[in-house]
Amino acid sequence: MTTTLHSASSTKSRSLIGTLNGPWHRPALRVFMVVVIAHLAEHLVQAYQVYALGWPRHQARGVLGQVFPWLVHSEVMHYGYALIMLVGIWTLLPGFVGRARGWWLAALVIQFWHHIEHALLQGQAIAGRNLFGAAVPTSIAQLVIPRVELHLLYNTLVFVPMVVAMYSHVFPSAAEAAASRCTCAAHPRSAQA
Ligand SMILES: [Zn+2]
Repeated sequence: MTTTLHSASSTKSRSLIGTLNGPWHRPALRVFMVVVIAHLAEHLVQAYQVYALGWPRHQARGVLGQVFPWLVHSEVMHYGYALIMLVGIWTLLPGFVGRARGWWLAALVIQFWHHIEHALLQGQAIAGRNLFGAAVPTSIAQLVIPRVELHLLYNTLVFVPMVVAMYSHVFPSAAEAAASRCTCAAHPRSAQA
């Protein structure tokens, strides 16, 4: 019985992954990219507040963070978003083929490390003790680059290969178009003709 239930649920999740990477790849990528760009824009606004407006770092909280400061000051929110991003990139990977898959995979690897850094920050917030004797939760790369700049850099390093992947996915070679199961390509697939 347990085995039957288990195999039924794994078949169901496989088919959801299949659908998300087949007929739903295009709308799923659109929704995901809107969320990713909105989040990256918040990091850009934060950098603008620090560098152009000269605001103190603790008060430079982007747009949403000005209304809801806890969004920026809660490690749970940061960790949760990093995890959603990791799961999102991983979930939509199978739909990419050829060159696009390599670029999307690069984004996945970078986001995996970014997510580990947030897991370290989250762990320090839970434990109430900070690494390296710091006054605030501190991640490894933060020893070299301050937090505002570091996370703008991380989000950019993940975003750039995603954009390159999306571009070659929308404009695939004939072989890539033939191997695709989704409708993302700008031109109708010749394989169907
Ligand atoms: Zn696609």
